[in-house]
Formats: sequence, C-alpha cells, structure tokens
Amino acid sequence: MGRRKRRTTLPVRRRRRSAFFRCPVCQHNSIIVDIHEKEKKALIKCFNCGLVEEMTLKSGDTKVDVYTRFFDAYIERAEGD
Ligand SMILES: [Zn+2]
Repeated sequence: MGRRKRRTTLPVRRRRRSAFFRCPVCQHNSIIVDIHEKEKKALIKCFNCGLVEEMTLKSGDTKVDVYTRFFDAYIERAEGD
C-alpha cells in the first residue's frame, strides 16, 4: 500500500487570549479580567458596554475567582437597589 500523503491540517492556533466572561450589565461575553499582581488588584472590563470595575486581588485568585466575586457583588448590588 502506498503511503498516503496526509495533508496536515493545521489545527487552529489557539492564541493564549484571555477568556471572555459574561457581562452582567449588557449580557455579552465581552468581559476581560486584568490581573495586576503587584498592585494586588484586578480590573474587570467590558469592552461592549464599557463597564470597568476594580477588585482587590487575594492571593491565589485566578481570573475566574475575581470574575465570580465581581459578578456576585454586582448582582447583590443590583438586587439591593
Ligand atoms: Zn457589558
């Protein structure tokens, strides 16, 4: 059997980009979390509606942790209104 020349289909290069989170304000998956470890803070930004929130970074916090905290705080605030 002849060797089949396999056409190498390159997998789509996954750029290491930050995952997008859902924005509680505009409901788009357009939130990015910027972690500033030195300053012990994280910035949550939505580039759809322009929301910007600053969160305190706790040690060991991942972007998901920060986002979850932000989300909970937002919902609580919204409900308390
Ligand atoms: Zn938004």
